[in-house]
Amino acid sequence: MKKTYKQDTKLVHVGRAPEEYFGLLNAPPASASSIIYPSLAAYESTTHKYRYGRMGTPLAKKFEEAVTMLEGGYAAVSAPSGMTAISIAVMAFVKAGDHILVTDSLYESSRCFFDGFVTRMGMKVEYYDPLIGTGISKLIKKNTALIYLESPGSATFEVQDIPAITKIARKHKIVTIFDNSWGSGLLFNAFEHGVDVSVIAATKYMNGHADAMLGAVVAGNKETYKKIKSTALDLGICAGTQEMYLALRGLRTMKLRLKQSAENAMVVAKWLNKHPKVQKVYYPALPTHSSHKLWRRDFKGANGLLSILLKPAPKSSVARFMKDLELFPMAASWGGYESLLLPQYPEKRALPWKEKGFLVRLHIGLEDPDDLIADLKQALQKFK
Ligand SMILES: *Cc1c(COP(=O)(O)O)cnc(C)c1O
Repeated sequence: MKKTYKQDTKLVHVGRAPEEYFGLLNAPPASASSIIYPSLAAYESTTHKYRYGRMGTPLAKKFEEAVTMLEGGYAAVSAPSGMTAISIAVMAFVKAGDHILVTDSLYESSRCFFDGFVTRMGMKVEYYDPLIGTGISKLIKKNTALIYLESPGSATFEVQDIPAITKIARKHKIVTIFDNSWGSGLLFNAFEHGVDVSVIAATKYMNGHADAMLGAVVAGNKETYKKIKSTALDLGICAGTQEMYLALRGLRTMKLRLKQSAENAMVVAKWLNKHPKVQKVYYPALPTHSSHKLWRRDFKGANGLLSILLKPAPKSSVARFMKDLELFPMAASWGGYESLLLPQYPEKRALPWKEKGFLVRLHIGLEDPDDLIADLKQALQKFK
């Protein structure tokens, strides 16, 4: 495939190899444990391509090639979920005694990982304000090994000044890991903004149909790739064949789905922004969002995720509001074809949360936004 092709063309052609598969247009979901070696010399060679299913299969290579292309990195390592992609990436660069700086607006399960496993393994985790920017330099210690970034942040979508933070990290030779799930590799190029390692939950827009768990770690250069790959090998982590097949299939239409979700979300967000029972709408593409300017500077677009802060009300009213919605089932995840809602608990963060009222995250799917608005309207009407 020509390097000069534009992204849309590459997204159609990447990860296909009909010459390897009797002309099949799509690389088939071929699973393997045993892979036959043609000779002892091949077995003893360190460059032999496929050794054992867990260590890599032709389809895993295709998926990893696709994610690498999407993110513009050096190479990728596939993982069975976004969370394993995060844990592999972190474990590749830290050791007991290290100090780690973590953005306070991170994904909830990532917080559990840092507070639980990472802390138990002897690392010291410190949360920082996502809007800290160059102020991060004051938090750097002699033993700071890693700065963990996620932008826009989960639930309230604070946009971090990534170029400012990565510049400081480079000066101190501190590794930066960026959770690029929100941008799905399409809306933000982590490496152009100075990040060392990008992780992505392919569970979200890439697979896009709410039926598979998958993740990937993308390294910006060979040296970081080697560390990540050896960590994944040591931990015995490999992704499921069916899941990688589904994500490659999802990749072909990801841009269209993402664009439509974002377009619908903007219509819904604007409508919610004027509703008297909604205190605040968190959506980076809205000019009223606190991080809107930074988002415009660094991102190529938005997705279908937004949160609303309801007017203070008893918990039972909040529960009723959620039940009254017909088109927003309550479920974790986002980035599928469908709309969903999920309660959020920002008061669990390390930094104080001062807002009153319940925070609800909505994922806006591919339904007609008129229907979504009508549904929200009737449920908000009953909300007291
Ligand atoms: C969902 C999500 C993850 C984790 O992905 P899984 O595939 O669910 O493990 C990581 N980061 C962010 C920002 C997410 O939204």
